Amino acid sequence: MKQKPEKKPTPARLWRELQTCWPALKGSLALVYKPCIRPHCRACASGKKHPNWLLAFSDQGRRRCLYVPALLVPALQRALRNGRRIEQLLHQMGPALVQQYRAQNPAQTGPAVGLRPAKPSPNS
Ligand SMILES: [Zn+2]
Repeated sequence: MKQKPEKKPTPARLWRELQTCWPALKGSLALVYKPCIRPHCRACASGKKHPNWLLAFSDQGRRRCLYVPALLVPALQRALRNGRRIEQLLHQMGPALVQQYRAQNPAQTGPAVGLRPAKPSPNS
């Protein structure tokens, strides 16, 4: 019989991993091609235009964009991955806190106790 590896996330384990996820950010990064303002630009005339990285993010509910220097792109991509990982960790934190509480308070009753009401046995 196969056994699952024991990898239940505890709040302490989640906290340790959370600390490795910095810097982090929420938003999206896109490579766009824009025309420039130079007259007689060959790249624009040929339709190639100019590549620019744009970081889109939300600022108090409003969508905003910033041009990003190409050298900063790898760091921002890492920060985006960290941001997604932090979100996953936060989703795991609720169940981890409940499991930790139950492990430390075994005498407590929970909703699961009432799921199967005791039926009177037909033999009694
Ligand atoms: Zn141009």
